[in-house]
Amino acid sequence: MKLLEDMILERGKVLPGHVLKVDSFLNHQIDVKLLRAMADELYSVFANDGVTKILTVEASGIAIATMVADRFNVPMVFAKKHKTSNVVGDVYSVPVHSYTHNRDYTIIVSKSYLNSNDVVLLIDDFLANGCALRGLIKLVEDAGAKVAGAGIAIEKGFQEGGKSLRADGYKIASMAIVESMSDTSLTFRKND
Ligand code: 5GP
Repeated sequence: MKLLEDMILERGKVLPGHVLKVDSFLNHQIDVKLLRAMADELYSVFANDGVTKILTVEASGIAIATMVADRFNVPMVFAKKHKTSNVVGDVYSVPVHSYTHNRDYTIIVSKSYLNSNDVVLLIDDFLANGCALRGLIKLVEDAGAKVAGAGIAIEKGFQEGGKSLRADGYKIASMAIVESMSDTSLTFRKND
């Protein structure tokens, strides 16, 4: 999506460790117009897939997922992050490795909000190694629900997550795929 690619080029910052900082329009201050455009695009990709629920993980996915849920006219659920694996209550839970913080945490969703008849569209801001998406997929599977696919704002195509999830048959729609990035240059892959 050209709008997102232009914003990344103009306002994104590449940090050490292959981390792209997009705080000025996606992760801290939010460009609502951009989110609306992404929601429209994702609706056009997944409109015929019977989506009944949008699922993301806190915190950065929530704004995007809310806009997408509005477009699909379905509820949005966000998985909560727990620092430990000592989770109590009637929840689905799964351990996830955090790319940006380089540590493990547990994500949980109440069993009340994912049902076996749900068709779930996963949403996240970034796709890197795929740990966050794999965790969300596990939550959906544990609930006996179906994964419609995943809508991602920025995929880092030089990391393995997208390739491996597509190889496993998941429908992944990324609004921008960064092919390479360094302090001085950033290139995009053409979306197919
Ligand atoms: P993965 O689990 O696919 O390795 O990484 C995706 C998760 O890590 C996303 O939920 C996102 O919050 C975070 N993440 C991964 N790479 C980046 C990045 O380059 N910039 C930012 N801001 N977050 C990232």
